[in-house]
Amino acid sequence: MHEITVVANIIEIAENEARKAGALSISEIELEIGKLSCIEKTAFDFAWKHGIRNTLLEHAKRITHDIPGKAKCKTCKQVFEIAELFDPCPHCGNYFSEILEGNELKIRSLRIKESTNL
Ligand SMILES: [Zn+2]
Repeated sequence: MHEITVVANIIEIAENEARKAGALSISEIELEIGKLSCIEKTAFDFAWKHGIRNTLLEHAKRITHDIPGKAKCKTCKQVFEIAELFDPCPHCGNYFSEILEGNELKIRSLRIKESTNL
């Protein structure tokens, strides 16, 4: 279940960023998950629920954006929407295409609660 590793990475990056900004906790996190990133939603949710315990993200609201897959055919140069990594080009049937979007798994934004003792 590679979702555990993925979640651990996201939490680490988010906590580093939040600490740099002097945050007490993270109130909201927005994620972009590409459809081609091979993330299984249920496994991800499970890993998330357990991973955020005792971290700055423990009470954070999580917003997830699904990014559809987009590829460019290497033969006919057409750009098309792709659901699976090895789908053929719908225009010429070629299997060799370059993935333009849909591989991402990243933090779009973080909302933090700052320390109040100034
Ligand atoms: Zn093509």
